[in-house]
Amino acid sequence: MSGFLIGEGWINLAYLVAAVLFIVGLKGLTHPRTAVRGNLTSAWGMLLAVVATLVANGLDYQWILVGAVIGGLVGGIAAMRVQMTQMPEMVALFNGFGGGASVLVAGAAYMIAVDPHTQMTVSTGLSGMIGAVTLTGSLVAFGKLAGLLPGGQIGFPGMKAFNALVGLGVLGCVGWLTVDPSAQIAYWIIVGASCVLGVTLTIPIGGADMPVVISLLNSYSGLAAAATGFVLMNNVLIIAGSLVGASGIVLTRIMCVAMNRSLGNVLFGSLGPSADGPSADDVYGGKVKSTSPEEVAMLFDTAQRVLVVPGYGLAVAQAQHIVRDLGNVLEERGITVEYGIHPVAGRMPGHMNVLLAEADVPYEKLREMDDINSEIAQIDVCLVVGANDVVNPVARTDPQSPIAGMPIIDVDKARTVVVVKRSLSPGFAGIPNPLFAADNCLMMFGDGKKAITDLVAALKEG
Ligand code: NDP
Repeated sequence: MSGFLIGEGWINLAYLVAAVLFIVGLKGLTHPRTAVRGNLTSAWGMLLAVVATLVANGLDYQWILVGAVIGGLVGGIAAMRVQMTQMPEMVALFNGFGGGASVLVAGAAYMIAVDPHTQMTVSTGLSGMIGAVTLTGSLVAFGKLAGLLPGGQIGFPGMKAFNALVGLGVLGCVGWLTVDPSAQIAYWIIVGASCVLGVTLTIPIGGADMPVVISLLNSYSGLAAAATGFVLMNNVLIIAGSLVGASGIVLTRIMCVAMNRSLGNVLFGSLGPSADGPSADDVYGGKVKSTSPEEVAMLFDTAQRVLVVPGYGLAVAQAQHIVRDLGNVLEERGITVEYGIHPVAGRMPGHMNVLLAEADVPYEKLREMDDINSEIAQIDVCLVVGANDVVNPVARTDPQSPIAGMPIIDVDKARTVVVVKRSLSPGFAGIPNPLFAADNCLMMFGDGKKAITDLVAALKEG
């Protein structure tokens, strides 16, 4: 570093503008209509912050440019190729790399500091700890979601006590580093032990809970970046890291509330069928009625109001475009078509909103769960496409169920329900769904895209 190339006041002004752009961008992300613009606004803010930092410090541009081009290419190609259903995996990797970057940057700044002061040593220790936990925790989360690691709960007896001891040891080393700034070895112990902690904290959590864990790790990556900001005395890094840290925590809470689970239960409990819950045979035996696209097409002859409820299977089948086509065909017949959106349908918050927006479904037609539930009895046909847990009435009726208390879309209260899925297999929570055996429910078995394509063809022929 060779000091400021232009006035410090200008640099701080650039940082202030970048921080405002981050906040305006975040605000834009709160609504699907403004989300793309919000994302771009924040990206411009980040570009401004990076350029201002380079100018401020007169850094060695060639190598930074090489890194930025390679990193940009890898990130850009990965983002373009990733499937929507793999998005949580990609976010996990990005979080992990963010945590790793904080470990390296904070560590390097501390190592080259001539006389590290207390603020620097405390924040270096915290950055090393949080960043390393984020790095290895995110890699485990990625491995579980990508099927590279077993998705179940893995552990050994005394694991919680082990984690508590390692955690206390790491905090002790942060204290050591603070008291004796020359003890560089303490930093490496913090990083090494925190890497172990990241694995042992994440590996016992079932793969099914990984999206919540990833949101939490996202928050950690922000906290690590903010701590690194204190190491470097860089205001914009402190602000950006704090924004990521805070929004990650808010998102984690929203996900927990939507699943009616506490964060503690996600991190230390388990989600899965209880041993004494009803079996699939008990729930379905002889009661499930299957139907065909032709029969469903006839149902629409008398329907005036249709609600489509998408779930994870819509994403797997990539059925969003054909669902939009179906909506158009029905609307041409004068039927009102709306889409009921559950906050945790799919595998990440907003999953269904993104898919439907990609298929150009007008945003006004999307109805939030609480909103549509109050009108559900007036729906003539409710078409559930690849959703299971988010429409499972046991959440309301069985206090022993693993999803007891989780708010659901009450599709069972509609006049007729048609469920599109390939089989009677359970969803994410691993439990049977009595909706499929209800009197007013018809099962249209098949892949979501193929089944809806056949339905559209039957409607056009009819
Ligand atoms: P579920 O996981 O409950 O069910 C999805 C259903 O889709 C399955 O039963 C499956 O049945 C069906 N399916 C899979 N592939 C296809 C296909 N190609 N065509 C048609 N159907 C298909 O999904 P939901 O969206 O209802 O619920 C989401 C669950 O994820 C909730 O339990 C929620 O708590 C959890 N979760 C969500 C998070 C989020 O942020 N969104 C985060 C963490 C957890 P079949 O195999 O028979 O086809």
